[in-house]
Amino acid sequence: MSEDMTIEARLQQVYHTIAAARARRTHVPKEAPVELIAVTKNHSVEEMQTAIDKGVMNIGENRVQEALEKAETLEREVKWHLIGHLQTNKVKHAVRQFDLIHSVDSIRLAEEIDKAAAKFGKVQNILVQINLAREASKSGIDYTELDDLLAAIDGLRSVRLQGFMCMAPNYDDVEECRPLFRTMYEIFQQVKAAEPRTADIRYLSMGMTHDYEIAVEEGANLVRVGTAIFGARQYALGV
Ligand SMILES: *Cc1c(COP(=O)(O)O)cnc(C)c1O
Repeated sequence: MSEDMTIEARLQQVYHTIAAARARRTHVPKEAPVELIAVTKNHSVEEMQTAIDKGVMNIGENRVQEALEKAETLEREVKWHLIGHLQTNKVKHAVRQFDLIHSVDSIRLAEEIDKAAAKFGKVQNILVQINLAREASKSGIDYTELDDLLAAIDGLRSVRLQGFMCMAPNYDDVEECRPLFRTMYEIFQQVKAAEPRTADIRYLSMGMTHDYEIAVEEGANLVRVGTAIFGARQYALGV
């Protein structure tokens, strides 16, 4: 990927890659659609607007504060996704800003979101993040604790569970992600089939720039892509 390509050209490339990956699916329905989330953390509001004007309908941000600041100047309608870890002291703001929170990974966090959403008069759509690879550096619930979390969420009235999110480890050989994505798809299908949740479970959020092709082949229907659209992120010194 060259750095001087435009956002529009890169987006076209990403859409083509997604379409090609869908066509290569073997045990997932090829026609099952995939939505692209453009991950805009550390990128400017101008770049966000360009992407939205070229057809992007979903924006992903890691940090609540950054999203709030950008939302103030962004003059576009878009669906906001919180993809980073959520601290309980930021829940109130997150509920105001985000259409879908991908990173619910504890009963306590689900309960805090429920409380804040009830106060705000909203039903908050959420995904449960599963740390399937059990990486200490990543958030997400351990698979063995999933049933308890799902049971707790069933009892909450102001959150709506819509599916699952996961991040694969940063393997040198990206093919190593495949079994993990395949297992996530199986979990997704199982929970989707189980009453009483059937109706609302619809999203499997997995795949980033280095592994979204494989994620789509294995059944992702929400991919979170930043670098492939906007180029490398610039981080301020000392951050
Ligand atoms: C930053 C981030 C992404 C996008 O990463 P790229 O490699 O730039 O595509 C996706 N998901 C999460 C949770 C992220 O933090």
